[in-house]
Amino acid sequence: MRLFGTSGIRAKYGAGITPETALAVGKAIGTLSKEAVVGRDTRTTGEVLEHALIAGILSAGGSVIRAGCVTTPTLALCARENKCTGAMITASHNPAEYNGIKLWQENGMAFTPQLEGKIEQIIEKGAYKKAEWKGIGTVRNTSPIEKHLKLITEFSKIKRKITVVADCANGPASMLTPYALAKAGCTVHTINANPDGYFPGRNPEPTEETLKSLSSAVKATGAELGIAHDGDADRVAAVDEKGSYISGDKLLALACAHYLQDKKGTIVTTVDAGLIVEETVEKNGGKLILTRVGDVAVAEQIVKTKAIFGGEPCGAWIHPSAHLAPDGPLSAAFIAGMASEELLGSRTKKMKEYPIVREKITCPNEEKEKAIERFSKAVKKMEPDKISRIDGVLAHIDSVRLLVRPSGTEPAIRVRAEGKSEAKTKKIAAEAKKLIEDLMAGQ
Ligand code: MG
Repeated sequence: MRLFGTSGIRAKYGAGITPETALAVGKAIGTLSKEAVVGRDTRTTGEVLEHALIAGILSAGGSVIRAGCVTTPTLALCARENKCTGAMITASHNPAEYNGIKLWQENGMAFTPQLEGKIEQIIEKGAYKKAEWKGIGTVRNTSPIEKHLKLITEFSKIKRKITVVADCANGPASMLTPYALAKAGCTVHTINANPDGYFPGRNPEPTEETLKSLSSAVKATGAELGIAHDGDADRVAAVDEKGSYISGDKLLALACAHYLQDKKGTIVTTVDAGLIVEETVEKNGGKLILTRVGDVAVAEQIVKTKAIFGGEPCGAWIHPSAHLAPDGPLSAAFIAGMASEELLGSRTKKMKEYPIVREKITCPNEEKEKAIERFSKAVKKMEPDKISRIDGVLAHIDSVRLLVRPSGTEPAIRVRAEGKSEAKTKKIAAEAKKLIEDLMAGQ
């Protein structure tokens, strides 16, 4: 039985996630751990799931530390601080009607698929501990935001006072990011900084489209930077001093360059990162390690390779000198530090832009893996220089970087091609799409 996907449990409330699911996960956590810290984002279904999850943990004899409404990185830090399991009730960047549960280890790193498998097994077998009346766990409350604020203030390096607009997505970052930036030395304006689980300001996923009001606010206030988060603030996004959106790849490349200017070392990113990230790390004397998509994979590789930084183009960045969870508010302070040395628009002006072609092929969920497997063999016809199977199929063909992966959210296969020549990039993307369609048609 699979409950967990690439980033915990995440589904529409009432369908894949219900109070019953939270109760079962809570009972499994209480079976495995003596103590767990529980937090939630601002979603309207957060509290009902929180109560069910806590009831489950207590019934199995586990004790609970209640962190309340906090960002995901705050919860992860709180798990590390208390050396216990962490359970965050969130659906991250998904719309308001979604919710989910993401689990954290006592070292502050997300649960690996193996650990999630243990929880699934306990639930499947119903192998829960059942505490007697005198063995029921206890609940105590904690307010972990101050500690997170302190960590960010210590981490940030702002060279001069800049003005920043923070778009908190009506999520738990509303209680953290504006204060963190102000303490770090910025003048802060805010939008969408009232916690509201209906997400009335914008969709919780930060994209060029959803950050239009941030762009306008930067222009209207004459600010020098705009930063934004997703619903639970493990991600960061940014607009420059002109209010122009900076793509996730470019922002990640800027962060890599900034790290490498101080210290050479290893940087971890995911296979879906763009050419600009690869080039920037190489140009600045760093070593780039690619891993499968998802912040857990990035964290695992960071630990394994003792990397100085790791991040995904979606804006989930891990700064291992601070902790091992992707941290949006900490990343926002990091970006403000970069902007205080040289504004982001001036930095991105020097960056190359490569054509990217994206294709989507409809494919039933149960056939995705088979289609990718067959494509990994068939792609040899396209004479690639190298093929990697870290996640899906990554092939370098005629100076084009081609990535074919199953979609994590839709019954579809996604094709992403990026190269220096637009004509070649389009040609390779079209060939890959045709090849997959032919394979699926059984030709
Ligand atoms: Mg998130």
